[in-house]
Amino acid sequence: MNNPYPNPNFNPTHILCHYAEIGLKGDNRSYFEKKLKQNIQHIIKWRSPGSIESIRRLRGRFLITLTEHGQKNIHQISEHLENVFGLAYFAPALKVDDTYESIISNSLEMMKNMEFDSFRVTARKSNSPLSFSAQKMNEDVGAAIVTKLNKTVNLSYPEATCFIDMIQEGTFIYQKRISGPGGLPVGVSGKVAVMLSGGIDSPVAAYYALKRGARPIYIHFHSVPHVSPASIEKVKETVEVLSKYQPGAKLYSVEFAPIQDEIYAKSDPKLLVILYRRFMIRIAEILARDEGAKVLYTGEAVGQVASQTIENISVVEESSCLPIFRPLIGFDKEEIISIARKIGTYNISIRPHQDCCTLFVPKHPATKARLTDVLLSEKELDTDKLITTAVDTAEVFLY
Ligand code: ATP
Ligand code: MG
Repeated sequence: MNNPYPNPNFNPTHILCHYAEIGLKGDNRSYFEKKLKQNIQHIIKWRSPGSIESIRRLRGRFLITLTEHGQKNIHQISEHLENVFGLAYFAPALKVDDTYESIISNSLEMMKNMEFDSFRVTARKSNSPLSFSAQKMNEDVGAAIVTKLNKTVNLSYPEATCFIDMIQEGTFIYQKRISGPGGLPVGVSGKVAVMLSGGIDSPVAAYYALKRGARPIYIHFHSVPHVSPASIEKVKETVEVLSKYQPGAKLYSVEFAPIQDEIYAKSDPKLLVILYRRFMIRIAEILARDEGAKVLYTGEAVGQVASQTIENISVVEESSCLPIFRPLIGFDKEEIISIARKIGTYNISIRPHQDCCTLFVPKHPATKARLTDVLLSEKELDTDKLITTAVDTAEVFLY
């Protein structure tokens, strides 16, 4: 966790939240800002209730005023903000009196009791009623820190920074800009359905859906009783972790064993995985449409396993009328694992469980399935009934 204030005597009263403005124009911009504000409010109200007094939209940023309770919980709040997509960075800051003397003395106080030798002052001014310039504060606060605290200026590689933001709403000082996750606020890009398997890849695909502002519902196919119900628990825990990016997530858990049994009994073993996938896609599509989700997401990457050759991906895709997004398509496994670790899903995903698609599957599945063969196989199956039953019996979990 990022420590928002290395000096334990520095007690921020506000948080300045910045977002990347590039590409935001017209109506787009106010929609983006509204969603980002809602998401900030939502996550803090949910995880640290009673912490926000107000949140105001300024140009290019938000100003959060913390309650006393919020000031005490600043570490926790910072952790939540690190997961709010759309934020470029944020800074827990102290509001100081709008006078020259107050800015100097509070800056000195903030930089006291900290271990560093070199520092810089980074003052900015925009729409502030104050008569002195940002450059004057850079020089004068800098000189005070040099003489009173015996530190050295280093503009290029400072060990510590004294930030001073002089804006219309007042003057704020802080020591640290904490990186947000970037991306777009969850919700600005509409609803999608992420197919979550219990493996390492699909939660990472979900992360990239969330990062570009999509609001996922999650769909999991389980093979209980052929596998242990622990496989469903794994996926529920994974959604719990992902819900730090999106409070109020929804998971559909779909019974897949009856479909698998019928496919297994009637089809060419080499085509099993492809047939399983085509059924999953069809069911996911119905649930997605019911939810108003416009796209399916999967964790596939070209060539990772036999079912993910370009030929097989295209035969599976043929079963879907909705577009299928695969954000990991060009990723190596190592790259996927490093993101999974970062977002906290890896340790859940590696817990041993049986994947429903590895059950009863031959050692050498088709790597270049032909659509005509797959369609012929499907003629033998009671497709509509199997799909309707699976959709009707899907269980829903809310977060
Ligand atoms: P993952 O690590 O996500 O399981 P994988 O590399 O093991 O991916 P596959 O098992 O071939 O790949 O699955 C490819 C994709 O198909 C998954 O990323 C997921 O989106 C979807 N998928 C596979 N099995 C299931 C399942 N049981 N429930 C929901 N989606 C699934
Ligand atoms: Mg898998």
